[in-house]
Amino acid sequence: MLGLMQDHPLLISSVLEHALRSHPLTPIASRTVEGPIHHCTYADVGRRAKQMANALTRLGIAPGERIGTLAWNGYRHMELYFAVSGMGAVLHTINPRLFPEQIEFIVQHAEDRVLFFDLTFSALVEQLAPHLPGVKAFVAMTERRHMPDIQIPNLLCFEELIASESEEFVWPCLDERLASSMCYTSGTTGNPKGVMYSHRSSLLHSLALCTPDGFGLSAADSALLVVPMFHVNAWGMPYACAMSGAKLVLPGPALDGASLYELMRSERVTLALGVPTVWMMLQQHVETQGLAPAAELCLERVVIGGAAAPRSQVERFERDFDTRVMHAWGMTEMSPLGTVCNPLPKHAGADLEARLDLQAKQGRALFGVSMKVVDDEGVELPRDGRSAGHLLVQGPWIASHYYRNDETILDAQGWFDTGDVATIDADGYMQITDRAKDVIKSGGEWISSIDLENAAMGHAAVAEAAVIGIPHEKWQERPLLVVVLKPGRAASKAELRDFLAERVAKWWLPDDVAFVDELPHTATGKLLKMKLRERFRDYVLAGD
Ligand code: ADP
Repeated sequence: MLGLMQDHPLLISSVLEHALRSHPLTPIASRTVEGPIHHCTYADVGRRAKQMANALTRLGIAPGERIGTLAWNGYRHMELYFAVSGMGAVLHTINPRLFPEQIEFIVQHAEDRVLFFDLTFSALVEQLAPHLPGVKAFVAMTERRHMPDIQIPNLLCFEELIASESEEFVWPCLDERLASSMCYTSGTTGNPKGVMYSHRSSLLHSLALCTPDGFGLSAADSALLVVPMFHVNAWGMPYACAMSGAKLVLPGPALDGASLYELMRSERVTLALGVPTVWMMLQQHVETQGLAPAAELCLERVVIGGAAAPRSQVERFERDFDTRVMHAWGMTEMSPLGTVCNPLPKHAGADLEARLDLQAKQGRALFGVSMKVVDDEGVELPRDGRSAGHLLVQGPWIASHYYRNDETILDAQGWFDTGDVATIDADGYMQITDRAKDVIKSGGEWISSIDLENAAMGHAAVAEAAVIGIPHEKWQERPLLVVVLKPGRAASKAELRDFLAERVAKWWLPDDVAFVDELPHTATGKLLKMKLRERFRDYVLAGD
């Protein structure tokens, strides 16, 4: 027997319409590429999104066609999020930090019909345009007086494109399973792979973000999205903020510590989301300038995700900013959110050390995400917080296929292997110990590179640390610690090893330490261990 309830599809246009009815005047603050902060409201975004939907219809964009963006976090990008998906086309956000050849590949692979770009990327677009015959129009996200001086056919101006369009547009009633947006993985191995989100998956994921044990969003929040809108829909926040009525603060291209700090202060940010590398820059700025964030900011919560949150970083937020850290984990294939680390009643009153121990974990699964850890043979391991294995996931906002590839990416029981190695404890807290390919295998046991990096970053002189396995005759592999020191700070190899000796098991201690000026990162800000392993391929450990 069917239920007798109304059957409304879960559509991205419904999120915008809700924002227009329930919090039209809630502000959206964006730092523009030109520098100044632009202020508008959800009402403005809605009005202009409808004009854009009319403009794209006039350009002949049909349902299901892909529209590319090469853009920072800003109000025009937000308008495209709703215009493109709302009208039934697919928003393809492109990571501008990919190599130009990769960008060319994914624009061709996705068959983007129109490519919107921020002025920062004008030269890149000029270079790519001759190789992108399928793109009918390139739209500079600016007004006429700032149009770039580049030589490409079909160059349009965003503001001119929408200027004379009607502010009325009736969003089509789509099948909620249709594609709404897409994003390619960074392709550290091989070509990037396209992940295609649906209206349904995006809405369910965003609802989960809003819950108290998700990010706990509300109309009282002012949310700074340092996570880029060009990768995994900025963790779904543009939709979740429009759902909950949170104020949006979009930092544009200025992701340095000083600019973020200024924005946090001027826009009274209560919640900020980003990867550890941006928080490292923010905290360094606070340290070198001698600022007093706890007094100057009203930052209640920070979400750290995309890579393991270093304990020292979490501690600084808690101690110096008086800010609660929510450690989160996920991946492009998961929309991206899988887990968030929030405390349970039994953790009430825990002291700082105990809180830091808990926050080192990536957290508990949101409703909608099932997960388990299995051994090499696929046998499920106990949830004891100790047994580490391959982390598998399932759920309605997790990919089943990559774009234009018929092969499923799930196993016979429908599980997706995340490529991460993790433990799950009896309360359901998951902790990543490594990427499967980064685990250091020493004498038949696994050493967690993440734990070692975390411990090393607790040293006052260390800005960033990476640990990789170096082949070893007797032990198979042994850890090498690669360190970037903070400007003006010094530490010897022996000092760092002594520091670690107090924090990790003796057999985990890195055999050697190498000092470098900079560590390689992926286009999404993660340590690029593959590059590092190449660089240190012939390295002879000091102990050998
Ligand atoms: P890409 O950069 O290739 O698009 P994703 O952004 O999808 O990759 O990254 C997903 C991976 O990032 C996860 O599988 C995991 O290895 C890592 N990751 C994400 N969040 C965390 C976290 N909180 N702690 C440790 N690793 C994390």
